[in-house]
Formats: sequence, C-alpha cells, structure tokens
Amino acid sequence: MTTPGEARATAIARLGVVGWPVAHSRSPAIQNAALRAAGLGDGWRYQLLPVPPELFEETVRALPGLGFRGVNVTLPHKAAALALASSATERTSAIGAANTLLFKDDGAIHADNTDAPAFANALAAIMPIPGCNALVLGAGGAARAAVWALLNAGAGEVYVWNRTLARAQQLCAEMGGTPVEQIPFVSPIDVITNATSIGLHEGDSLRDLPPFAQPDQLSNYRAVVDFVYTDRETPLLEAARHAGVPTVDGLELLVGQGALAFELFTGVTAPLAVMRSAVGW
Ligand code: NAP
Repeated sequence: MTTPGEARATAIARLGVVGWPVAHSRSPAIQNAALRAAGLGDGWRYQLLPVPPELFEETVRALPGLGFRGVNVTLPHKAAALALASSATERTSAIGAANTLLFKDDGAIHADNTDAPAFANALAAIMPIPGCNALVLGAGGAARAAVWALLNAGAGEVYVWNRTLARAQQLCAEMGGTPVEQIPFVSPIDVITNATSIGLHEGDSLRDLPPFAQPDQLSNYRAVVDFVYTDRETPLLEAARHAGVPTVDGLELLVGQGALAFELFTGVTAPLAVMRSAVGW
C-alpha cells in the first residue's frame, strides 16, 4: 500500500475542489493560474472532484494516497468536511463548516474556513469593521462565515435575517448576533450582506428578500456585500451600483478565499492579481 508520504515523494502534488455538482466551479482556473504564476506549474495540479454526498468521506480519505496535498470543499460538503477532520481552526469549529482540508504527512486531516477571513479582508478594504452595525441575510454556511467574521473583527450590532426565522435564531444562539424579522431602527446599519442564494439563478427576484434589502433602501447603507456570483452582475449589486453604494462582489470573495487556501496548500504568497484576472474580475 502506498502511504501519503510515498505518494508525495514521486507524484505531482495534487489539489482540487470537492463538490456535487462542481462542474461550474471557477476554482481550477483560478488555482492553476496561481500555481503557474508562482512557478509551481510543473509540479502541482488543481482539478475538479465531483463527489456525491454518500461517497464524500471515503473519497476524501483516499485522496492523500493519490498524491493530494489538500482540497477545497464546496456545497454540499462543508459540514461533512469539518466532521471528518482530525483537527480544525477555532473559526472553522465555530462556523461549523470547512472549505479547505489539508492532508498532513502523518495522515491527519486539518480543516480550515477561508470564507470568513476573505469576507473580513474584502469588507475592511472598503469600510472599517470595528464598531460597525451589520445585517446578514441568510443562515447557511456563508452567513455563518460572515457573522463570525463580523463579530471577530469587532462589529457592533450584527443582525441576522433569514427566510426561515428558526435558522437565524439557531445561528445567533450558537454564534452571537440578533435574529430579526424587521430592522430594529435603534441604530443605523452600515453594511448589508446577502448570504442567501438569491441572485444565483437567472430570474431570481429581490422581492424574496425583506423590505430593508429592496433597491430603494440600499442608499441607507455604507456598503453592500453579495456572496453570490454568476456570469452577470447580481440584481442586488446592480441595485447597489445604481444607488451609488460601495460593494463587494462574490467573485472577490471567491478569489479571497481561494488565495488564502492557496497559501495554506503551498506555503507561497498568493498572486492575487493573477487570480482576479483568471476569474474575470
Ligand atoms: P446554504 O447553506 O444552502 O444556505 C442558503 C441560504 O439561502 C439559506 O439561508 C436559505 O434560507 C436562503 N435561501 C435560499 N433560497 C431562498 C429564497 N428563495 N428566498 C430567501 N432565502 C433563500 O448556502 P451557502 O453555502 O450559505 O451559500 C449561499 C450563497 O453564497 C450561494 O449562492 C453560494 O454559492 C454563495 N457562496 C459564495 C461564496 C464565494 O466565495 N463567493 C462562498 C460561499 C457561498 P432557508 O434557511 O430559509 O432555506
């Protein structure tokens, strides 16, 4: 049997993104461009890994023996990735979802979540987070990463709205923040973040978001963040642009989380400009 160490001594260093479905992922284009730019193009490869949920754990456990150094993990596997890891960063455990797994020489699997620091970095580039009041729409993995990042960076009030209120209540009970159905107008909100999947599909309507996320309300905020990315501008970001409000788009978050994962995988500083160019940013 080949051990992970033996596979490493002989084979190309492999990386990939595990998801189901995953054919649409832009991570191979971003990561392979980064590997080439960093001078690692000959020895490293990053590939798509379409894996259904029922095969997730046994497939991931087999990857180190095939020369994989690590993988990114996307829907629907982020909670399962954390569950199978032998160790995890504090933020990953708090968020309850891993988007990066590192395969160690001794067979250990280490989990991290780079969505949260990517969100914090991108938002901090357009407005200061400490003391700001924030509203997060959604209660899934992206919302949990955003709430953790905001609270960890010293945000003031963090309000969470979700279509299914009970999930927002559970998120806040576990992580902090305040579940809301309406904005409590005690203090102005500085930043609104869409961490629902609204905007992902053509024809998605902002009418499924609450009144305080409608186009005529966006000028009340200092920044609008949308986790969703597609081939076109999302309806929320289009409305924010018309309102003249600074934005962070889902592609910048994708590049940011990918850049942090790249550094964990390779130990080399991520070539951010190359990664942005590869994603069409
Ligand atoms: P998730 O765990 O499946 O959560 C989906 C969220 O969207 C839930 O809060 C869900 O509400 C809400 N939702 C779905 N359809 C809705 C509708 N019609 N009306 C109102 N709310 C609706 O997904 P996730 O991992 O958090 O991801 C959310 C989005 O962010 C996805 O589009 C994903 O691709 C994107 N994302 C992007 C990045 C990036 O790097 N840019 C990273 C992570 C995620 P319920 O609880 O009521 O079902």
